[in-house]
Amino acid sequence: MHAIDMTEITRGLVRYNEPMAKHTSWRAGGAARCFFEPADLDDLAVFMAQLSDREPRLFIGLGSNLLVRDGGYPGTVIMVTPGLGEWSVIGGEVLRAQAGVTCAKVARNSVRRGLVGAEFFAGIPGTVGGALAMNAGAFGSETWELVEAVTTIDRAGGLHARLPGDFRVGYRQVECPAGEWFVAADFRLHGGDGEAAAERIRELLERRNRQQPTGLASCGSVFRNPAGEHAARLIEACGLKGLSVGGAQVSDQHANFIINNGAASAEDIETLIGRVAETVERECGIRLAPEVRIVGER
Ligand SMILES: Cc1cc2nc3c(=O)[nH]c(=O)nc-3n(C[C@H](O)[C@H](O)[C@H](O)COP(=O)(O)OP(=O)(O)OC[C@H]3O[C@@H](n4cnc5c(N)ncnc54)[C@H](O)[C@@H]3O)c2cc1C
Repeated sequence: MHAIDMTEITRGLVRYNEPMAKHTSWRAGGAARCFFEPADLDDLAVFMAQLSDREPRLFIGLGSNLLVRDGGYPGTVIMVTPGLGEWSVIGGEVLRAQAGVTCAKVARNSVRRGLVGAEFFAGIPGTVGGALAMNAGAFGSETWELVEAVTTIDRAGGLHARLPGDFRVGYRQVECPAGEWFVAADFRLHGGDGEAAAERIRELLERRNRQQPTGLASCGSVFRNPAGEHAARLIEACGLKGLSVGGAQVSDQHANFIINNGAASAEDIETLIGRVAETVERECGIRLAPEVRIVGER
């Protein structure tokens, strides 16, 4: 428990024992010991400065790539959306967005300003912070290809201006300096045909709707694609579509998606992830690595 009453030092929202199923797209999992939604960046900085240095912290956006185990998260979850929701265009071709701005908004707002390059963000159901942390990507483009600079916050609430060279960026993974989290990014876009870009967004969303189970509780692709392969192809080749554990099931439509049919526990989902990985390794000799982040206690 915190040494001081955190509700008194913030304009944001503090809750204890908050079910994380409410804040993750899998709609499953345990509770956060403490849950904080800052009102804005200043509020976040004050909160961070007051939090005990030993308190574990987990920054989240829309929880669209996150599984919190049923025993819950033994620390403070900090959800930066919608509080860190400011964005602006600076210097003509740079979109500056705080970490809580949704990826869909980055795509839409850029196109409205006649800026192109961020269309692929349209169908990624997360935030700028989550996209930076995961190097989210789609249809051949990735988040960090656009990043010109980012701002991070440290454990004491201090802000740092950082450049892409300060991070190790790979396929769906990014190594941040220890004890820092993303609060904003500058995306370098370029002027172009806004209408053509809007049309491209429509096409990408249609493609996504055809290929993926939309409207069901999932976390998108569960496993990263191994070099030169597709995780979905391997899972399908092993006959695992439809395999279920409790309320969790490998999607019939897209084999790299696991759906919560309504009553899945985090344990059901994690067990199914393990079974899929073991089967693919046994039958194809390839160990699939999860893309989704799994945190908390069993
Ligand atoms: C239907 C569906 C389709 C998807 N399609 C795609 C796709 O095409 N491409 C793709 O790449 N992903 C896809 N995803 C996965 C997911 O949307 C992305 O990984 C997204 O970037 C996660 O953003 P988020 O804000 O929800 O992050 P969260 O799920 O909240 O967090 C993910 C990770 O990022 C960390 N994190 C979040 N915010 C911050 C921050 N401010 N600072 C530091 N760390 C932070 C968290 O601690 C966690 O480790 C899909 C998911 C779903 C449900």
